[in-house]
Amino acid sequence: MTSPSVPPDHPRAESLRVREKLIERYHEGVVASAGLIAHGRGEAFDYLMGEKTTGPALRAIEAAAAAIITAKKPVISVNGNVVALAAEDVVKLSQVTGARIEVNLYYRSLERERAIKKILERAGASEVLGVGKDASARIPELGSERRRVDPHGILVADVVLVPLEDGDRTEALVKMGKRVIAVDLNPLSRTARKASITIVDNIIRATPKLTKTAGILRKQGRKNPADILRNFDNKKNLAESFALIHRRLLKLAKEKKHSTLEDEKLDL
Ligand code: ATP
Ligand code: MG
Repeated sequence: MTSPSVPPDHPRAESLRVREKLIERYHEGVVASAGLIAHGRGEAFDYLMGEKTTGPALRAIEAAAAAIITAKKPVISVNGNVVALAAEDVVKLSQVTGARIEVNLYYRSLERERAIKKILERAGASEVLGVGKDASARIPELGSERRRVDPHGILVADVVLVPLEDGDRTEALVKMGKRVIAVDLNPLSRTARKASITIVDNIIRATPKLTKTAGILRKQGRKNPADILRNFDNKKNLAESFALIHRRLLKLAKEKKHSTLEDEKLDL
């Protein structure tokens, strides 16, 4: 990600570059205005967790990979923020696992759907479901445009990956009997609590790890995906994230000097 307006030596350069990218995509009509707010909420939780993939997140990623590779009809649901932050990574995940990609938006408009599809195609996607008339099916129990889905995608999927999702839709998909995998930095969100598997991590870090893990699990045969899934408890995993934040804040509270996130990273 490059942006001329972010000085490379700025201590928060990467975070600022990500923001610039989202703002750029917002002006292109890809990211919704509420998507910028959602990103800020995510950033706050990322700070609390030290901006790195945690142990509980790694275990959730392994369970998610097991779920996707053993699914009959896995689908990756994408919105504006997802393509702005991880279009190439989502396409790679789809190629490695065979999961189909579907556009699903809280704020639907044909222009936004098409713009998202274009970015995905530029990133190498050969198929993008859920655009325009293709989103002709409806999820029960949901109002508004959010319920529109592709009859060949989310409607018939057994496993749906929903990064940066809204709680209501997560709950509705679970009620339809689907295994729902969320990627959400906020372990307190309704999405995080309602999903079958919650990866509490930044989508930018989690997606390549998910792809790599799915590839390894697929080839190896050393670890049985069914065993991984049987042993995974989402409630317990979320509790581990809460405990991790708690421990980290206690440690910071006891420190004599006030170190920044960057100081901590240097200490590692
Ligand atoms: P919920 O409806 O699940 O209770 P919410 O209303 O607080 O959540 P939404 O706007 O519906 O939030 O969903 C956006 C979610 O995406 C937020 O919980 C936010 O923490 C998360 N999020 C934002 N950016 C990222 C990111 N880069 N990676 C992972 N999660 C993110
Ligand atoms: Mg919400």
